[in-house]
Amino acid sequence: MTGLRIDRNQCVGCGICAKTCAFGALEIKEKKAEANDNCALCGMCVDVCPFQAISIEKEEQQADRTYRDVWVFAELTGDRLAPVVRELLGAGRKLADQKGCRLAAALIGGGNAFREAELISLGADVVYFCRDEKLADKREEPYTAVLKQMVERYRPEIFLFGATAFGRSLAPRLAARLQTGLTADCTGLSVEEENGLLRQTRPAFGGNLMATILCPARRPQMATVRPGVMPPAQADTGRSGIVREVPLPEFPERIKGIKRVPLPPAKSIADAEILVVAGRGIGSRKNLSLVTEFASLIGAEYGCSRPLVDGGWCEYPHQVGQTGCSVAPKLLISLGVSGAIQHLAGISRAETIVAVNTDPHAPIFSVSRYAVVGDCVEILKEWIRMLKCR
Ligand SMILES: Cc1cc2nc3c(=O)[nH]c(=O)nc-3n(C[C@H](O)[C@H](O)[C@H](O)COP(=O)(O)OP(=O)(O)OC[C@H]3O[C@@H](n4cnc5c(N)ncnc54)[C@H](O)[C@@H]3O)c2cc1C
Repeated sequence: MTGLRIDRNQCVGCGICAKTCAFGALEIKEKKAEANDNCALCGMCVDVCPFQAISIEKEEQQADRTYRDVWVFAELTGDRLAPVVRELLGAGRKLADQKGCRLAAALIGGGNAFREAELISLGADVVYFCRDEKLADKREEPYTAVLKQMVERYRPEIFLFGATAFGRSLAPRLAARLQTGLTADCTGLSVEEENGLLRQTRPAFGGNLMATILCPARRPQMATVRPGVMPPAQADTGRSGIVREVPLPEFPERIKGIKRVPLPPAKSIADAEILVVAGRGIGSRKNLSLVTEFASLIGAEYGCSRPLVDGGWCEYPHQVGQTGCSVAPKLLISLGVSGAIQHLAGISRAETIVAVNTDPHAPIFSVSRYAVVGDCVEILKEWIRMLKCR
């Protein structure tokens, strides 16, 4: 049984544990500590007890070793693979090679969703697919039923999803059905050398620290992965693999699609080929209009550093960096951005960076190909004037 154990012979009733407990779970009764139902087994009292009177007993749970292979969910956008699938396959391939197992893709879709060859060219050894017109619309209920059936039959050890709107909704549903854990929004994945467990790393506490989470006892180990963070897999059309069809299971049809209304395509700075990024060096909210004007003149999207979002100058979807969006443009023009580590984390995949900053020692220059030392507002005005004269 898992639980808090207090050795009454060692306990002297000093009360340090009760003062430390953040949950009010310890009381001193008759000069001995006693735990109540509030105990969350956080272990703080164990660490502070000077008499080693407190311990946590944990039931050893063994993972089921019949689960093998690394899987990725091959989410479709229309009939095409969602961009994050390439990134999952890139990361999944590395994990599978490290573990010496196969990489598989789970593909679900309507009648035209033939993506097996592409998935194999991108690194999958096996593709499990379920194709039916009932699956043409991405809906959680049927997709959960299909994936649950696939997992119970083929038993993957690791199952990765893109942290897209659909992935974030589907993965926890499936994890709950399979009674396993799920780490959401991972930015790093690796394998523990000593026991082969998946190390799932994600920002925690508002991005102030990185937490690495393990799922030692339940299978599969499930994670959603933040889009735009992992390098995408490169296609190799010479690869071969196995394709297996999985029948459509019964599922509750509580939701019926009535009509499909296409939304105008949402533009994300993650997909921008040319990106102009403004930092606090632009000086004022008013100057942001120069940035947007310049961006539209050169056919670019615009992004910003975090202080501009915090200050209400820009909306969050424009934020670049660790707690914003990871971008990979061909050309990034950075204006008045210092280049703090959390910002650089979001631009590491930009091909060419042109940076403008008044400080010749600004860290942004360490990652930029072209460094312009000067006032970005003056330079922006000049660039706009020149572009308009063309
Ligand atoms: C947990 C955590 C997560 C974070 N996540 C992010 C994130 O996702 N994205 C992000 O951007 N930040 C993030 N930050 C904040 C980050 O640490 C920096 O504070 C932030 O990136 C600084 O933004 P900035 O460079 O625009 O501003 P500043 O640091 O104020 O730099 C302004 C720069 O502009 C230059 N400058 C001033 N005037 C001019 C001018 N006229 N012309 C040209 N240059 C000029 C200055 O020399 C300076 O280099 C995070 C911080 C923490 C703690």
